Amino acid sequence: MWVVTHTYVGLAMGAVLYAALGLPYWVVLAVIIVSHVLLDLVPHWDYAFTAHHVLWGCVDFFSALATCLVLLALGVPFALVLLGPVSGAPDFDVLVHAIRGSRGRYWFPSHWDGFPHGACGPVFGIGVQAALLLASVAVFADAYW
Ligand SMILES: [Zn+2]
Repeated sequence: MWVVTHTYVGLAMGAVLYAALGLPYWVVLAVIIVSHVLLDLVPHWDYAFTAHHVLWGCVDFFSALATCLVLLALGVPFALVLLGPVSGAPDFDVLVHAIRGSRGRYWFPSHWDGFPHGACGPVFGIGVQAALLLASVAVFADAYW
Protein backbone atom coordinates (compact mmCIF):
# COMPACT_ATOMS: atom_id res chain seq x y z
CA MET A 1 0.00 0.00 0.00
CA TRP A 2 1.03 3.58 -0.46
CA VAL A 3 2.44 5.57 2.45
CA VAL A 4 -0.46 8.03 2.29
CA THR A 5 -2.99 5.19 2.58
CA HIS A 6 -1.19 3.72 5.59
CA THR A 7 -1.00 7.22 7.08
CA TYR A 8 -4.74 7.86 6.72
CA VAL A 9 -5.64 4.44 8.11
CA GLY A 10 -3.23 4.98 11.02
CA LEU A 11 -4.79 8.37 11.75
CA ALA A 12 -8.29 6.86 11.70
CA MET A 13 -7.24 3.99 13.95
CA GLY A 14 -5.54 6.46 16.29
CA ALA A 15 -8.67 8.61 16.44
CA VAL A 16 -10.75 5.60 17.45
CA LEU A 17 -8.35 3.60 19.63
CA TYR A 18 -6.38 6.42 21.26
CA ALA A 19 -8.49 9.57 21.17
CA ALA A 20 -11.99 8.07 21.51
CA LEU A 21 -11.44 4.83 23.44
CA GLY A 22 -8.36 5.93 25.39
CA LEU A 23 -6.34 2.75 24.88
CA PRO A 24 -2.71 2.94 26.04
CA TYR A 25 -0.46 4.53 23.42
CA TRP A 26 1.85 1.54 23.19
CA VAL A 27 -1.12 -0.73 22.44
CA VAL A 28 -2.29 1.60 19.68
CA LEU A 29 1.25 1.70 18.24
CA ALA A 30 1.38 -2.11 18.15
CA VAL A 31 -2.06 -2.39 16.53
CA ILE A 32 -1.13 0.19 13.91
CA ILE A 33 2.09 -1.62 12.98
CA VAL A 34 0.13 -4.87 12.65
CA SER A 35 -2.38 -3.01 10.46
CA HIS A 36 0.46 -2.23 8.04
CA VAL A 37 0.99 -5.96 7.53
CA LEU A 38 -2.74 -6.60 7.06
CA LEU A 39 -3.13 -3.72 4.60
CA ASP A 40 -0.23 -5.04 2.55
CA LEU A 41 -2.26 -8.25 2.10
CA VAL A 42 -5.14 -6.36 0.43
CA PRO A 43 -4.90 -6.36 -3.37
CA HIS A 44 -3.57 -2.95 -4.38
CA TRP A 45 -1.43 -1.27 -7.00
CA ASP A 46 2.15 -0.33 -6.08
CA TYR A 47 4.17 2.22 -8.04
CA ALA A 48 7.52 0.84 -6.85
CA PHE A 49 8.23 -0.95 -10.11
CA THR A 50 6.86 1.63 -12.55
CA ALA A 51 8.94 3.94 -14.73
CA HIS A 52 7.93 6.99 -12.66
CA HIS A 53 8.40 5.49 -9.20
CA VAL A 54 10.38 8.51 -7.93
CA LEU A 55 7.60 10.93 -8.94
CA TRP A 56 4.93 8.64 -7.48
CA GLY A 57 6.98 8.28 -4.31
CA CYS A 58 7.34 12.04 -3.91
CA VAL A 59 3.61 12.61 -4.41
CA ASP A 60 2.86 9.80 -1.98
CA PHE A 61 5.28 10.98 0.72
CA PHE A 62 4.43 14.68 0.48
CA SER A 63 0.68 13.96 0.48
CA ALA A 64 1.10 12.12 3.76
CA LEU A 65 3.36 14.86 5.15
CA ALA A 66 0.96 17.64 4.08
CA THR A 67 -1.94 15.83 5.73
CA CYS A 68 -0.06 15.63 9.02
CA LEU A 69 0.94 19.31 8.85
CA VAL A 70 -2.66 20.36 8.15
CA LEU A 71 -3.89 18.31 11.11
CA LEU A 72 -1.28 19.88 13.39
CA ALA A 73 -2.28 23.34 12.12
CA LEU A 74 -5.89 22.47 12.98
CA GLY A 75 -4.83 21.74 16.55
CA VAL A 76 -4.91 17.94 16.47
CA PRO A 77 -2.53 16.72 19.21
CA PHE A 78 0.95 15.68 18.06
CA ALA A 79 0.62 12.26 19.70
CA LEU A 80 -2.43 11.51 17.56
CA VAL A 81 -0.94 12.90 14.35
CA LEU A 82 2.24 10.87 14.91
CA LEU A 83 0.23 7.67 14.58
CA GLY A 84 -0.22 8.38 10.86
CA PRO A 85 3.50 8.41 10.00
CA VAL A 86 4.08 5.45 12.32
CA SER A 87 1.60 3.50 10.23
CA GLY A 88 3.47 4.34 7.03
CA ALA A 89 6.98 4.13 8.49
CA PRO A 90 7.64 0.47 7.54
CA ASP A 91 7.56 1.59 3.90
CA PHE A 92 10.88 3.40 4.43
CA ASP A 93 12.11 -0.16 4.04
CA VAL A 94 10.99 0.03 0.40
CA LEU A 95 12.60 3.46 -0.05
CA VAL A 96 15.97 2.29 1.30
CA HIS A 97 15.76 -0.78 -0.92
CA ALA A 98 15.10 1.41 -3.98
CA ILE A 99 17.97 3.77 -3.13
CA ARG A 100 20.33 0.82 -2.78
CA GLY A 101 19.33 -0.37 -6.25
CA SER A 102 17.35 -3.40 -5.05
CA ARG A 103 20.33 -4.84 -3.18
CA GLY A 104 19.89 -6.11 0.33
CA ARG A 105 16.88 -7.53 2.12
CA TYR A 106 13.67 -6.02 3.34
CA TRP A 107 13.39 -5.96 7.12
CA PHE A 108 9.61 -5.59 7.46
CA PRO A 109 7.71 -8.91 7.21
CA SER A 110 5.05 -7.78 4.72
CA HIS A 111 7.84 -6.75 2.31
CA TRP A 112 9.64 -10.08 2.34
CA ASP A 113 9.69 -12.08 -0.89
CA GLY A 114 7.61 -14.95 0.50
CA PHE A 115 4.88 -12.72 1.93
CA PRO A 116 1.57 -12.87 0.01
CA HIS A 117 1.68 -9.16 -0.83
CA GLY A 118 -1.61 -8.09 -2.39
CA ALA A 119 -1.29 -6.94 -5.99
CA CYS A 120 -3.62 -5.97 -8.81
CA GLY A 121 -3.91 -3.57 -11.72
CA PRO A 122 -3.91 0.22 -11.36
CA VAL A 123 -7.66 0.86 -11.77
CA PHE A 124 -8.81 -1.49 -9.03
CA GLY A 125 -5.64 -1.01 -7.02
CA ILE A 126 -5.91 2.77 -6.87
CA GLY A 127 -9.67 2.50 -6.26
CA VAL A 128 -9.12 0.26 -3.24
CA GLN A 129 -6.67 2.74 -1.75
CA ALA A 130 -8.93 5.72 -2.51
CA ALA A 131 -11.81 3.92 -0.77
CA LEU A 132 -9.63 3.18 2.27
CA LEU A 133 -8.47 6.79 2.32
CA LEU A 134 -12.01 8.21 2.19
CA ALA A 135 -13.28 5.74 4.78
CA SER A 136 -10.38 6.75 7.02
CA VAL A 137 -11.28 10.44 6.69
CA ALA A 138 -14.88 9.63 7.69
CA VAL A 139 -13.78 7.50 10.66
CA PHE A 140 -11.28 10.12 11.82
CA ALA A 141 -13.84 12.92 11.56
CA ASP A 142 -16.47 10.90 13.39
CA ALA A 143 -14.16 9.68 16.16
CA TYR A 144 -12.15 12.86 16.74
CA TRP A 145 -14.40 15.81 15.84
ZN1 LIG B 1 4.36 -1.86 3.29
